[in-house]
Amino acid sequence: MNARVASLERENEAAGELVPERALVARRLAVQFSGADAKDILRHAIETAFPGRIALVSSFGAESVALLHLVSEIDAALPVIFLDTGKHFAQTLSYRKKLARQFGLINVRDIVPEKAKLARRDPEGDLWKRDADACCTLRKVEPLREALDGFDAWITGRKQFHGGGRLHLPAFEASARHVKVNPLARWRQDDIDAYRAAHDLPPHPLVAQGYPSIGCWPCTHPVAAGEDIRAGRWRGAAKTECGIHGRGFNGTA
Ligand code: SF4
Repeated sequence: MNARVASLERENEAAGELVPERALVARRLAVQFSGADAKDILRHAIETAFPGRIALVSSFGAESVALLHLVSEIDAALPVIFLDTGKHFAQTLSYRKKLARQFGLINVRDIVPEKAKLARRDPEGDLWKRDADACCTLRKVEPLREALDGFDAWITGRKQFHGGGRLHLPAFEASARHVKVNPLARWRQDDIDAYRAAHDLPPHPLVAQGYPSIGCWPCTHPVAAGEDIRAGRWRGAAKTECGIHGRGFNGTA
């Protein structure tokens, strides 16, 4: 990142606005890689566009395995950030270990919330019952913001078929602090299933129990046939996202 972009970033971060140069870079890459293969997008982002300045953020959830496998084939030492909220299912924690071992990922970083903040803002560990947004901010948004300091870009597993704000997701997008890379944006459920089958990848153990989307245990429920894939997340609440892709985190809508 040159000095001018860094300076603009500081100014615009304070105002919660996009850095023009960063937005231009993201737009140019989005056009260049519109319709490109997921592995080509990833390889370009990791080796050419942001070498040494990019990380993958993974929940090690129901759909994470394909992206983790793709990354491991390009650079098994790429930083992989796992937000260990303290509220994950035990199955997710063991899946995280299993996949890292199986794929040879040597730089998985377990990012935990700050102890002092937990003691002050969620001493009983039940903030999720009273204010899920505040809980996600404490356990996900703030730790991720710190973990991504020093990176210019991060890779997400978001996909257009999840709907909502993801319907028109491009392969590259800008935020105030980073370029976000969405190599699987155009993948459908069939693509995920086909990739998993072709590479004989292990499923998250909770998928077979009716969880097609998996986050923290207090806020994740099984989904009935025909329901939206994310219907079990914060079931019964208006909340649909944890906040790491929202304006509060990085300036995107
Ligand atoms: S998903 Fe639930 S438990 Fe996890 S951080 Fe958000 S509100 Fe808290």
